[in-house]
Amino acid sequence: MTRAVIALGANLGDRGSTLRAAAAAVAALPGVRPVASSREVESVALTLDGLDTTKPRYRNGVVVVETDLEPQQLLDALHGIEDEHGRTREVRWGDRTLDLDVIAVDDRRIDTATLTVPHPRAHERAFVLAPWADADPEAVLPGHGSVTTLLQALGDDTERVDEPRLFEAAEPESTP
Ligand code: ATP
Ligand code: CA
Ligand code: CA
Repeated sequence: MTRAVIALGANLGDRGSTLRAAAAAVAALPGVRPVASSREVESVALTLDGLDTTKPRYRNGVVVVETDLEPQQLLDALHGIEDEHGRTREVRWGDRTLDLDVIAVDDRRIDTATLTVPHPRAHERAFVLAPWADADPEAVLPGHGSVTTLLQALGDDTERVDEPRLFEAAEPESTP
């Protein structure tokens, strides 16, 4: 079993509903068990040209799961969920209905053509760090340190959305 951190983002469509449905779909994947989730945050779109206030704003969140899937299997499953929500891939960092990224898997380091873990840009993104710290205040980003400390150093330019967590943590397993 590994513990995986997944970041969710959307800036097109009914963003909140999409994030909630995607979090539920992640939690329902075979070989995946929900552990914790964040509330949503909102922020200005980040494009290849930097922050762009003319683009629709993003909603972001984070879910933490336990899984016996290999990280690449997990990413493939996440791409399936993105596709179900109408994700298209045109411009890099372009507008999208749903983006699901693998942020960390335990303290594993992976660097293949299709998967880099920890996510190489997570440490510089408040829209990842803020919901991650909300889901798990003790979280550590391998190679960078405490997520809460990283967020404080970076400055939090996200706004908390007044909605419940993306999903409630699983019930503790009952002891027989
Ligand atoms: P960014 O990676 O900067 O957040 P993005 O999410 O917009 O950008 P995408 O177009 O969604 O980028 O993904 C491009 C490719 O990145 C994917 O096809 C996937 O193979 C690869 N990739 C590498 N590492 C990861 C990761 N940790 N999580 C998700 N995708 C990854
Ligand atoms: Ca992304
Ligand atoms: Ca992505």
